[in-house]
Amino acid sequence: MYARGLVCRVCGKQTKLEVRYYCDSCFGPLEIEYDYAAIRNQVTPAHVAAGPDSIWRYGALLPIARKPVDLSTGWTPLLRAERLGDRLGLRDLWIKNDSVNPTFSFKDRNVAVAVNSALAYGYDTFACASTGNLAGSVAGFAARAGLRSYVFVPSDLERNKLLSAAVYGATLVTVDGNYDAVNRLCTQIAEEYGWAFANINLRPFYSEGSKTVMFEIVEQLGWQPPDAVIVPMAGASLLTKMNKALREMVKVGWLTSAQTRLIGAQPEGCSPVVRAFKSGSEDVAPVVPDTIAKSLAIGDPADGHFALRAIRESNGTAEAASDAEIVDGIRLLAQTEGIFTETAGGTVVAVARRLREQGLLDPQERTVLCITGNGLKTPEALDGEIFSTIRLDRANLSAFEAVLDERAA
Ligand SMILES: *Cc1c(COP(=O)(O)O)cnc(C)c1O
Ligand SMILES: [Zn+2]
Repeated sequence: MYARGLVCRVCGKQTKLEVRYYCDSCFGPLEIEYDYAAIRNQVTPAHVAAGPDSIWRYGALLPIARKPVDLSTGWTPLLRAERLGDRLGLRDLWIKNDSVNPTFSFKDRNVAVAVNSALAYGYDTFACASTGNLAGSVAGFAARAGLRSYVFVPSDLERNKLLSAAVYGATLVTVDGNYDAVNRLCTQIAEEYGWAFANINLRPFYSEGSKTVMFEIVEQLGWQPPDAVIVPMAGASLLTKMNKALREMVKVGWLTSAQTRLIGAQPEGCSPVVRAFKSGSEDVAPVVPDTIAKSLAIGDPADGHFALRAIRESNGTAEAASDAEIVDGIRLLAQTEGIFTETAGGTVVAVARRLREQGLLDPQERTVLCITGNGLKTPEALDGEIFSTIRLDRANLSAFEAVLDERAA
């Protein structure tokens, strides 16, 4: 294993690799560091390409030493999106379709790493505070690994998100409060019970999984970084770690440079990072979420400050979309490309449309939309939408023809 320790993201203090998530000098968040020189000498893009069709092809830049327990996570399709591109006026548009992961969201990337950390450090209980997708992923991977699991979510979640956590046998704890309250409770439980919380005490390990989306995009484009990526933000860890992935690919010599513009997308009803970006602030002021995009409803994003910095340093931007635009985004992606995404994906499509209208996306730029979750988890978002259906009161050819004639008239 090439992971060699933890480093504080604020003061840079280094410590040994262990389960610890904040710096003992400044309380800043910790992240994993690797022996980049050794990877540069020993792991080439050809070695990566010979690896498994999963996130584990990037094992050199993940903090796991054991043979991983997994459900075949990652190596999801990167698709050219010509029809959506035509509609948005973008000539080189691509979709990274992470809705086809084992539990149907990109969170499987994080959880695949976290569950193996939980096993390596001898935990028997795997847990999380979640806005929905993480709960399903933790529950699924806990089942696969034979760990007990507890998942904590706000009680107003979509029904299918509750079901897709409970079905795996996790104890589902629904809390009458928003995600930020659930997260505070879970921080206390993690201290008190010594459980492995994927996104709290295991966060430095968990968040490394997000890098693999960017590794894959770059490799699937023939080791060429795209000009821009549009990334949905909740806690803003995904965007922050996609940036870390670009820096690391340069450090280990898989890329000579990485100038990808990082673009953050949030729903208007929960857009603290977008607001801070637009106001020129360095600090992200917390908000109280009110949006149909529940997977993005984190009012006080843990990585908001780091995401802001990454967006600015990459010459990127940030934009929000209204709930109505998000629903239009879901429909547009489904009807142009055959991909049914949840509200987070709808947010990304809607933000691409807004930025294009504002002239903030260059039509020639190679742009990748990160579609992070599956539409079957948020059917409520489409309540009241009208789709084309024909109802026949009997299975009769002339009845069908009569309806078609009526429509043609
Ligand atoms: C969690 C989640 C996000 C946001 O991830 P962060 O790292 O918290 O910013 C985006 N899309 C989906 C579908 C998610 O479940
Ligand atoms: Zn520190």
